[in-house]
Amino acid sequence: MIKTELNAGFASLGGGYLFSETARRIRAFEAENPGKKVIRLGIGDVTLPLGKTVVDAMLRASAEMGERGTFRGYCPEAGYGFLRSAVARYYARRGVDVRPEEIFISDGAKSDCAAVPSLFGAAKVYIPDPVYPVYLDTNLLAGRETVSIPALPEDGFLPGPERCGGGPAVIYLCSPDNPTGAAYGREGLAAWVVHAINTGSVIIYDAAYEAYITEPGVPHTIYEIPGAKSCAVEINSLSKSAGFTGTRCGWSVFPRELGELGKMWARRQAASFNGVSYIVQRAAEAALSPAGLAESAKMAEYYLSNARLISRLLDEKGIFHTGGVNSPYIWMRCPDGCGSWEFFDRMLTSAGVAGTPGAGFGKYGEGFFRLTAFSAREDTETAVARLREFL
Ligand code: PLP
Repeated sequence: MIKTELNAGFASLGGGYLFSETARRIRAFEAENPGKKVIRLGIGDVTLPLGKTVVDAMLRASAEMGERGTFRGYCPEAGYGFLRSAVARYYARRGVDVRPEEIFISDGAKSDCAAVPSLFGAAKVYIPDPVYPVYLDTNLLAGRETVSIPALPEDGFLPGPERCGGGPAVIYLCSPDNPTGAAYGREGLAAWVVHAINTGSVIIYDAAYEAYITEPGVPHTIYEIPGAKSCAVEINSLSKSAGFTGTRCGWSVFPRELGELGKMWARRQAASFNGVSYIVQRAAEAALSPAGLAESAKMAEYYLSNARLISRLLDEKGIFHTGGVNSPYIWMRCPDGCGSWEFFDRMLTSAGVAGTPGAGFGKYGEGFFRLTAFSAREDTETAVARLREFL
C-alpha cells in the first residue's frame, strides 16, 4: 500500500474529463440503441485530412530519417531553426515582429497552456469561465490558487479586466474563445494589456483558433496590441488550423520584453521536454508555407460553412447563440431554461445528436450548450435536419 501523500489537487477536479464523460454517455446510448447513428457535434477534433503540402513534407522528411547522411536524433528543445523562422514569418504577415529566438516549438497548445504557469511562484491564476477546461484542471493539479473571471452573455462572453481583481497575477485569455466562439476586438484586448501592465501581471494568450477569424477588426495575435510584448505569452497550435490534432505541433512566444521569462521557459523545456519530431516539424513548416496556408484556409472555410448551417437553424428557431463567425464553435442557450447536462441527454436520446454541455466549461456555462462545426458536411446537414425537428 502506498503511503506517500497523494496530490490533493485531484480531489478538486470534477468527476471526469468533460469529454470522457460525454463519450461515456454516448457509448451507453449506442449500446442501448444499436443501429442508431449518433451525430457528434461535441468533441473539438477536426475531421478533414492533412493537406497535400503537409503530407508531401512528411514523406520527404521520413525518407531523410532513413538515410545515414540525413538522419536526425534529438532535436533542439526549442525547435529547429527552420520552423522557428517559419513561425516568425507567419507573424510578419500580420505586421508583427517576432524573432525566431522568441518562439518555442511544442507538441501543441495543451501542454504549454498547462506548463507556462510553472514559471511563477504563488501567483493567483485568473481563468475565464466558461473556458477550455485544461486551464483550470492543470492549475488545480499544480495546487495553485485559481480565481474565475465570469464570462457573461451581457458582455458578449468577453469579460473585461474590471471583472478581475488587482495585483500581479497570471491571467488566461482565449480568443477566439472555446467554447463561446467570442473573439476580442482591438479595444477589448487593449484593455487587458493595459490592466496587465498596470498590475504587473502576465497574460497567457491562447490563440489556438486564430485561423478562424473572419471579421476584419479582430486581432489575430495579441502582439497587434501596443505593449502586449511586455506582458503576454502567446500560445498557438496547428491543431485546428492545419488539422494537426493527431500530428501534434504548436508554439509559444516569449518576447524578449518579458525579460527573464523566455530564458526560464528555455530552461524549463530543456529540463522536461525532448522536442517535437523532425518529421512533424517539417510538416509544420510546410503548413506555414504559402501553399500550406492556402490549404488551411480552405479547411477553415469548410468548417465555417458547417457553422453557418447550424447558426441559421438557431436563428430560425429564435435561439440565442454566439460564435460560428470567428470560430468553429457555436454556443447556444439551452431552450426552456433547461440545464446543460439535461439538454445533452435530451438531445442525445431524442435527436441522436451529441454536443457538449456548457456546464463542463465552468459554472457560468450552465444553461448553455456547445455545438461544433468540425463534423463532415453530410453529418452536419443530417444533424441540422434532426435538430430542426427536435428544437
Ligand atoms: N486551446 C484551446 C482553447 C483548445 O480548445 C484546444 C483544443 O481543443 C487546445 C488549446 C489544445 O490544442 P492542441 O491540440 O494544440 O494541444
